[in-house]
Amino acid sequence: MISIQNLAKRFGDSTIFSGLNLTIEKGEIVVVIGPSGTGKSTLLRCINFLETADEGRVTIDSLSVAAQQANKADVLALRRKTGFVFQNYALFAHLTARQNIAEGLITVKGWHKAEAHQRAQQILDDIGLGDKGDHYPAALSGGQQQRVGIGRAMALEAELLLFDEPTSALDPEWVGEVLNLMQKLATRHQTMLVVTHEMQFAREVADRVIFMADGEFVEQGTPTQIFTNPQDPRLKKFLSQVG
Ligand code: ATP
Ligand code: MG
Repeated sequence: MISIQNLAKRFGDSTIFSGLNLTIEKGEIVVVIGPSGTGKSTLLRCINFLETADEGRVTIDSLSVAAQQANKADVLALRRKTGFVFQNYALFAHLTARQNIAEGLITVKGWHKAEAHQRAQQILDDIGLGDKGDHYPAALSGGQQQRVGIGRAMALEAELLLFDEPTSALDPEWVGEVLNLMQKLATRHQTMLVVTHEMQFAREVADRVIFMADGEFVEQGTPTQIFTNPQDPRLKKFLSQVG
């Protein structure tokens, strides 16, 4: 089980959010939607300590880390339990697809290079890029690059995968293949927390949808509750805007 308790984050004088609580069951797919600037990315970044929250605690299974008391070892341990998929892929340009996927196994998990590359090849096969292992990111389409980004997160067999708008930088033609891969992970009961503007994905794949606005979880429920029977005026307005 994953939980965040009483999470707060400020930038200077401005409070992005405070008192946020969230529990995610093993295998649950939680999708966060909400307007721009409301703190969705900051929330994901605080969960795996790309940003340090000002208050609160992140717990993944038996590991529980208070943001303001986290030492390096805690943060590393937490990063081992989470994988992050970025909007802009954030692949290493000087490494091939196979090396990008193997990198975390070598540096984070301490695997030998040969085993890491073997595992990376299995993942490439799994994500439909079995013949692209020697390609550098620049020689891959946006969709292929993002699938490598997801493959890299998959390699660590993390308890929780965090996705921050994984398709929003893609040309429309590549969005489907990335969503399909995420859907495949969902059917394997990979626990996922996904920030996305893809409402169709949220409807079809999410176990729970959270509408975040003004730094708060304004409303949450099943996709049916959120999309067919929204309550809060801010959610109704948001849904009318995103179509
Ligand atoms: P979007 O949908 O546009 O991605 P978001 O919900 O992900 O928006 P965040 O990126 O989390 O929003 O930003 C929330 C607020 O925090 C914004 O007002 C943003 O300007 C501010 N913010 C984010 N990162 C920083 C930072 N490093 N320093 C100062 N302010 C920041
Ligand atoms: Mg964002």
